[in-house]
Amino acid sequence: MSATSWIDVQPVKGSNGGTISFVWTPPAEAFPVAGQTFEILPGNAARVSLRGEDGRIEARVDGLIRVRYPCDRCLEPAEERIPVHYRQRFVTPEVFEQMPAPEREGEEDGVTCWPYTGSHIDLGEGLRQNLLLAAPPKHLCREDCLGLCPVCGRNRNLEPCACEPEPVDPRLAALRELLKEGDDESR
Ligand SMILES: [Zn+2]
Ligand SMILES: [Zn+2]
Repeated sequence: MSATSWIDVQPVKGSNGGTISFVWTPPAEAFPVAGQTFEILPGNAARVSLRGEDGRIEARVDGLIRVRYPCDRCLEPAEERIPVHYRQRFVTPEVFEQMPAPEREGEEDGVTCWPYTGSHIDLGEGLRQNLLLAAPPKHLCREDCLGLCPVCGRNRNLEPCACEPEPVDPRLAALRELLKEGDDESR
């Protein structure tokens, strides 16, 4: 199957309990997140199963998706594998319109709802959102990344600089900021 987000749901549409499952190849793409570029790399594979029920289509997506986005410390693009396991519910636009917001957002059962028309559903936006949700809190190009120098902004992995060393731990940096503020106030 070629890489596309548009999935033909003809085999399960309108069925009650009909299921298909297949390996989906999400297309490689890059999109902006908070002013930076997040890339889904080529060659990924996810297991998708679709089930038709009462005019709805329930989709289940499981995969380990290879992506690339800036390292938290040095801002250079770095690869990560993000596990995704989620469900989506596709309904007609009429049903979607009537649906209260908490249900659309899947507040109760964790299944978000999406409108679709015709014979295809789009899995792209769901994957993008779920990758961002599942991204690890700390993303580094390598465990010992030296990061950018907070003084001169140089990437310290590439060349050392002669600036006064700063504490690497951001909590220490935050603490130091607080102490500095305290100093300013006491003056
Ligand atoms: Zn880095
Ligand atoms: Zn420096």
